[in-house]
Amino acid sequence: MRLTVENYPPGTIPPHAEALRAPVKAFIAEQLAGSPAHLRARSWSGFDAGFSKALAARGWVGVGIPKQYGGAGLDPFSRFVLVEELLAAGAPVAAHWFADRQSAPLILHYGSEAQRTSFLPRICRGELFFCIGMSEPNSGSDLASVRSRAERVPGGWKLNGQKIWTTYAHKSHYMIALIRTSGTSEDRQQGLSQFLVDLSLPGVTVNPIKLGTGDSDFNEVFFEDVILPEDALVGTEGNGWQQVNAELAFERSGPERIYSSLVLLDLWASLLGGDPTPDEAARLGRMLARLAPLRAMSVAMTGLLAAGQSPLTEAALFKDAGTALEQQIPAEIADAIAARPDRAADPELLRTLAYLMQLNHVFSLRGGTREILRGMIARGLGLR
Ligand SMILES: Cc1cc2nc3c(=O)[nH]c(=O)nc-3n(C[C@H](O)[C@H](O)[C@H](O)COP(=O)(O)OP(=O)(O)OC[C@H]3O[C@@H](n4cnc5c(N)ncnc54)[C@H](O)[C@@H]3O)c2cc1C
Repeated sequence: MRLTVENYPPGTIPPHAEALRAPVKAFIAEQLAGSPAHLRARSWSGFDAGFSKALAARGWVGVGIPKQYGGAGLDPFSRFVLVEELLAAGAPVAAHWFADRQSAPLILHYGSEAQRTSFLPRICRGELFFCIGMSEPNSGSDLASVRSRAERVPGGWKLNGQKIWTTYAHKSHYMIALIRTSGTSEDRQQGLSQFLVDLSLPGVTVNPIKLGTGDSDFNEVFFEDVILPEDALVGTEGNGWQQVNAELAFERSGPERIYSSLVLLDLWASLLGGDPTPDEAARLGRMLARLAPLRAMSVAMTGLLAAGQSPLTEAALFKDAGTALEQQIPAEIADAIAARPDRAADPELLRTLAYLMQLNHVFSLRGGTREILRGMIARGLGLR
């Protein structure tokens, strides 16, 4: 069992990482000047290649990648500060998000030297965007049952199958796909491998799926006899499950699991000014009292990642509690507005609230559902 105080010490952001905060804040203020809250509320769902390019020009995409591969060579705490500021302001970071958070660390860790020198500098320059190809129809929670298959052919691999819910596949250059390379779906975790799939290859079809909010963020992706080069395989054939699990700790431990409703909370709090009713003050206090320890958990996990650990159970616990708060914030603010019918609500507040009320149910689905995370937590605690 790992969830002890000794194994999960409170983290402190070191001064060198805090020093990044002021220049990042200044950059964001300049870039997002005049951007309305309902657009900023999209944040890591907001795709803006120009913004990602401008961020990269400052050296702030792939900050954890060593300098020899085009990164800034900074530690995970520096990335925490950068990401926290971007999300708190609602910067449109989706274009480089998955490459920065998952694909680049994966390629750095498991990729060949040729893959590192080819992909990492382009990711860090904000030129190459990635999407995550894990889920398939009938293989979401039960990821180990993926059916998409790559078979060896002379000079490479032939890929057939389908992915679904692939965020921004229609705007990405590459997918990192979890694919079966041997056995059947009954073999579960055995026989899975990860591939760098160039989405412009013949045989790849990307069909957008529309969200209830009207946005088209994610897609179905079909592979029909797609010929991948030999070096499309990342890491070791058959080691895909272990590699994906290493990605999940990055995917579930960051501030994006607590800040999805922060632009709304910030706007509401600023509109309350210095004169909240006791009911509004109590609601705000309750939300902040939940936010502060969750942020501390995320900082603590950053410390574990910096120490080379893979805190999967801790990340599951954090994501479950964090997304519950992200979902609660719009509901709480809607109730607070309803409790004051005598006061006209700000139109931009209502637009931002409407967007988040439509979206907030996905917070506990994307990146692994609540039920699955709770199963992992129970296992991590030795309860099952
Ligand atoms: C906004 C958004 C973006 C996404 N982006 C991506 C992406 O970029 N790439 C990608 O690969 N995937 C992505 N996903 C997919 C996401 O990972 C899956 O939706 C998620 O893992 C659940 O899988 P599913 O949709 O197949 O649901 P299912 O697995 O069918 O689950 C349906 C319900 O049954 C419950 N359930 C299932 N199994 C169990 C069990 N054993 N015990 C208890 N309850 C269970 C689940 O908790 C859920 O409530 C995204 C999803 C969303 C909502």
